[in-house]
Amino acid sequence: MPRRRQFYIREDLTEVSRPPPRALEVLAGDADLPVCATCATQYPAARADCPVCEDPRQWVPGTGQEWTTLGELASGKRNYLLRDVEDPRITLIATEPSFAISQTPIVLETSEGSFIWDCAAVITPPLVAHLTHLRRPLKAMAISHPHFFSTSLTWARALGVPLYINALDKEWYARAASLEADEVVFWSGTQRLSANITLIECGGHFPGSSVLHWDRAGEPLTSEADARAPDTGLLLVADTVMVQPAQKGFTFMWSYPNMIPLHPPDVLRIQKILSEYDFDSVSGTWPDRWVRTGAARSFDESVETYLSATGWERGRGDELVPKRKV
Ligand SMILES: [Zn+2]
Ligand SMILES: [Zn+2]
Repeated sequence: MPRRRQFYIREDLTEVSRPPPRALEVLAGDADLPVCATCATQYPAARADCPVCEDPRQWVPGTGQEWTTLGELASGKRNYLLRDVEDPRITLIATEPSFAISQTPIVLETSEGSFIWDCAAVITPPLVAHLTHLRRPLKAMAISHPHFFSTSLTWARALGVPLYINALDKEWYARAASLEADEVVFWSGTQRLSANITLIECGGHFPGSSVLHWDRAGEPLTSEADARAPDTGLLLVADTVMVQPAQKGFTFMWSYPNMIPLHPPDVLRIQKILSEYDFDSVSGTWPDRWVRTGAARSFDESVETYLSATGWERGRGDELVPKRKV
């Protein structure tokens, strides 16, 4: 039997270095804040409902709203790493047993520092120790949209980095009222995090749904491992664009759990925005949600499949018209 292809190497976190005392204070201070057990959103105070789950893009379980806390989660779960085999500068932060929608943030270790894309609820002292001792110091954390806001303020405070959230989704940021100056950058349009990392507002799934573009061709090759890594553009897309399970194509949904498709003009808008960027690989914020090569072409093909399947075709220019019956 052929061997199954492995895209990640698992690394367990052992606390070889100590997390900064200030980080442990942040974790202890936020340990009892309510965290929604379905979507992982952390709130500043106890409440009956979770607005993120009440919204049709998520769901409240039939058994009712459930709450937990970071303290409770940290005692029963742990973080581990999945290092990408093709590009060792990319690491996913996984949680076991898995929690909420299995958010799996991605760490990019670039020549200008390291960046975290998206967030999961669980953050433990061994993870803080790991992230504060990366080969390239951590510079910032950025979140794609509200389904990944989770405990991101705890992360950013514990790690001592600024958090980037798109301004159009500020109303969904549950801890917005307790922010101190400059802790969160509410950005619009495009936002550069470094020479090679750009956040791009695309909209669709949420008004501020964003993707991250890493121009790997611009990275100096400082080690043998870096030299072997791909030098093509990488897009991290979260739910703005969904990588299909076969890892060859894409689709678009306004609500993934409730299977409500995205408005076709929004799909065209996303395509137009992304056509400005050079990319060959695309990944969602979960393991094995990659299109490893040829992603720009398969993206365009997927847009055509989507339009056709939802009953539309292109008229003159980019105007959408109902598909003619054949
Ligand atoms: Zn929720
Ligand atoms: Zn989402």
